[in-house]
Amino acid sequence: MPEPVLEIEDLTVRFHLKRGELTAVDGVSLSIQKGETFGLVGESGSGKTVTARSIMRLIPIPPGEIANGAIRFEGENVLDKTDAEMRELRGQKIAMVFQEPMSALNPVFSIGSQIIDALRTNLGMNKQEARERCIELLQIVGIPSPERRIKSYVHEFSGGMRQRVMLAMALSCDPTFLIADEPTTALDVTIQATILELIESMIERFHMSLIFITHNLGVVAHACDNIGVMYASHLVELGTKNEIFRDPQHPYTIGLLNSIPRLDTQKEFLTPIEGLVCNMLEPPAGCKFHPRCDHAMDICGREIPQMKEIAPGHFSACHLHEQT
Ligand code: SF4
Repeated sequence: MPEPVLEIEDLTVRFHLKRGELTAVDGVSLSIQKGETFGLVGESGSGKTVTARSIMRLIPIPPGEIANGAIRFEGENVLDKTDAEMRELRGQKIAMVFQEPMSALNPVFSIGSQIIDALRTNLGMNKQEARERCIELLQIVGIPSPERRIKSYVHEFSGGMRQRVMLAMALSCDPTFLIADEPTTALDVTIQATILELIESMIERFHMSLIFITHNLGVVAHACDNIGVMYASHLVELGTKNEIFRDPQHPYTIGLLNSIPRLDTQKEFLTPIEGLVCNMLEPPAGCKFHPRCDHAMDICGREIPQMKEIAPGHFSACHLHEQT
C-alpha cells in the first residue's frame, strides 16, 4: 500500500465572528496518494475552500481557528510547522491556483517580474536563469509570444490567459502537490474545457498530486480519480469516481447527480435539490442535510451520522446505512 502524500485527520476549523461562531469544517478526514487527482465537491459555503486553505495554513487567525485535527503532508503535520517552514513548503512543494487570478497576482508588477521573483526567492536562481525559466513556463501553459508577454500586466490578459499565468506561477517552483480552487468557475464554458485539459496535462507532465475543488460534479467526472462530497462543513461521501457516479449512497450526492445534465439518461427535466443550504451560524441539529432530505427520519434531526464504509474504499455518512 503506497504512503499517502497528504492525510487530513478529523479537521475542524472555526471562525469567531461578531455575529457568532461558525464551524466551517467539522471533523473532515481524507487522504490523497502520490499522483492522485482528488475532487472535492459541494455547494458554496460547504467548507471546501477552508479545507484547502487549511492545508496551506492560509486561514486568517483570528478570526479563524484550527480547533482540532492534523494535516500531515509527507508525514509531517503542517499545523506544527513554523511560519518560515510553511513559507518554504508553500514555495517549493505545495502550490495553489485560485478562482480569481486578479486577487492572487499583483496588478502593479508585470507577470514576468512576479514569476521571476518567485523563482529567485524559492529556487535561488540568478536573474538570467529565472528569466529563461519564466519564459519556458509561460510557453508550457500556452501563452503566445512569452518573450514579449513577460512584460505585460495582469489586466492586459483575458480571463483564460490570466488563469494560464496563474498556473505558470503555481508551477514555477516545481510543486509536488497542486490545489486548484474553482479554477474554471469564472471562465466561459469553452475556455473552461481548455484550462481543465491544461491542468490535466500539467499534472501528468510534472507528476503532481492534485486537489480539484469545484461545485460542479460534471467537471470532476473526467478529471479525478477519487471524489469527496462536502455539505455544510461535513464530508458526507467519499469514494472512487466510478463508485460515486455509478452507485452514489448519500441522499445529497444523489441529489447533486440528479441536478446535472447527463448524456447517459433520457430525463427531460433536471431535478433540483429543494430548499437552501442551512445558515452556518445557526445550523440544524443532527444531520445538517435533514431539512432538505426526502428520506429524513426522527434520528436525523438528533444525531450527526458517522462515516460508514459501504463498500471497500466507499464511505458515506447517513443514518439510512444503519438500517441495513
Ligand atoms: Fe437524509 Fe437522514 Fe441520511 Fe441525513 S442522515 S442524509 S437526513 S437520511
